[in-house]
Amino acid sequence: MTIVRDSFYINGEWVKAASSDTLEVTSSGTGELYATIPVGTVDEANRAVDAAAAAFFAWSNTSAKERGEFLQRISEKLAERADEIALVIANEVGMPLMLAKGIQAGIPTATFADNAQRAMEFTWEEEVGNSTLVREPVGVVAAITPWNYPLHQIANKVAAALAAGCTVVLKPSEVAPINAFILADIIHEVGLPKGVFNLITGLGPVVGEAIVAHPKTDMVSFTGSTRAGKRVMELASQMVKRVSLELGGKSANIILDDADLQKAIPDAIFKCYLNSGQTCSALTRLVVPREKLAEVEDLAVAAAAGFAPADPVTGASLIGPLVSAAQQQRVRDYIQKGINEGARILIGGVQPPEGLEQGHYVQPTIFSDVTNDMTIAQEEIFGPVLSIIPYDTEEEAINIANDSLYGLAGGVWAGSDEKAFEVARKIRTGQVEINGGAFNIFAPFGGYKQSGIGRELGKYGFEEFLEVKAIQHN
Ligand code: NAD
Repeated sequence: MTIVRDSFYINGEWVKAASSDTLEVTSSGTGELYATIPVGTVDEANRAVDAAAAAFFAWSNTSAKERGEFLQRISEKLAERADEIALVIANEVGMPLMLAKGIQAGIPTATFADNAQRAMEFTWEEEVGNSTLVREPVGVVAAITPWNYPLHQIANKVAAALAAGCTVVLKPSEVAPINAFILADIIHEVGLPKGVFNLITGLGPVVGEAIVAHPKTDMVSFTGSTRAGKRVMELASQMVKRVSLELGGKSANIILDDADLQKAIPDAIFKCYLNSGQTCSALTRLVVPREKLAEVEDLAVAAAAGFAPADPVTGASLIGPLVSAAQQQRVRDYIQKGINEGARILIGGVQPPEGLEQGHYVQPTIFSDVTNDMTIAQEEIFGPVLSIIPYDTEEEAINIANDSLYGLAGGVWAGSDEKAFEVARKIRTGQVEINGGAFNIFAPFGGYKQSGIGRELGKYGFEEFLEVKAIQHN
């Protein structure tokens, strides 16, 4: 049965959309209609910002303890609904259900709890000479989010902003929006004061731009493509608003010549193919010693055999489809481009996997003999496509990793953590994992270069939503 949402959450209530136009959400596994959402107008977007602005003074003056308690209750309700959220996101995005529960539902739940704690334990004031430094919320936040880890990206902004004492207007991705409606239902249930959180859906260039440009919006926190991020920054600059951008990536995973390939290569495949490659920090360039190329290729092909796509809800695979038909076509075009530019295809290809012609499936693909100037090594594909790039010297490997417009993440594998650490320091990205180090929700996440501005998660993510005021005294 199709999920139908026809209202926006504005000023503490569900308000029926003015327009009867809807946007359709398809189920990634079947390509069938999954849900419809309302299309917001500029007027409705403005009302959402006005509500957030009206609520700001009172909310910013609540105690951190009170805000923390609200966030803790939201976290608990998210935990109660984890199965439902995982199912929704498996349908919307295509991540297999068994992974979606821990990642797509579990991480945002933990992020709300972390920010609850953080607000309560934060040092809001400190003394510097004859000044008292006071940390204050930045104001009304426009939060704009993408579809690939939809609730995670929402939680990174909404939980931290609310903890800081900001009020929020959220514009989630129109491609995977139902999880955001569930969050709004939960926020309503816990009784957050009216106007503190508002939800509006619709098209980025209409409602997204309206909430960015509204004079009462103080900060824009955007996650999405570099293209849209640049537009958001341009609009926000007209009123010198604070902007935080989490954008694309093309991350390199350097394998040094003394690395344990039996461990490194299966991990490299997983870090590239997770969520069908729809991960901004996916390690999509595998940079390997030329003399080890044949061995790496064999191990990569063997590891990729464990990633036969299946239905994200009913199947039992580590990999599902892509989010939409448009993304499927985009990824297939990139695979064709790789072939045309002379990369050697080891597995995969342009055709959908056999027997999976419905839904948005793409064959997990590996290219070898890729050079870093090829399109598939420079542009973000956002699909299960790995490029293996051989190198001759360590210096060349580091140069390849850094030869990118992006600077989001990276990986290094070496015979020792010390050696891997040494190389990690030379990579110009916001995160680097060494010898398979796991993702850490308390560590700052964000990019150098065109991967963005600012950080999310943990202490640094929380502080993005704060101003600092110095009060001089005698
Ligand atoms: P997108 O840029 O198309 O859309 C992201 C959001 O921005 C959506 O809500 C969309 O409606 C809105 N939007 C689009 N145009 C807008 C405009 N002119 N003004 C205001 N808002 C606008 O991106 P997507 O396709 O949803 O997501 C995929 C992209 O997100 C990839 O490039 C990926 O790398 C990036 N991403 C980055 C991170 C990160 O943390 N660095 C995380 C996840 C995804």
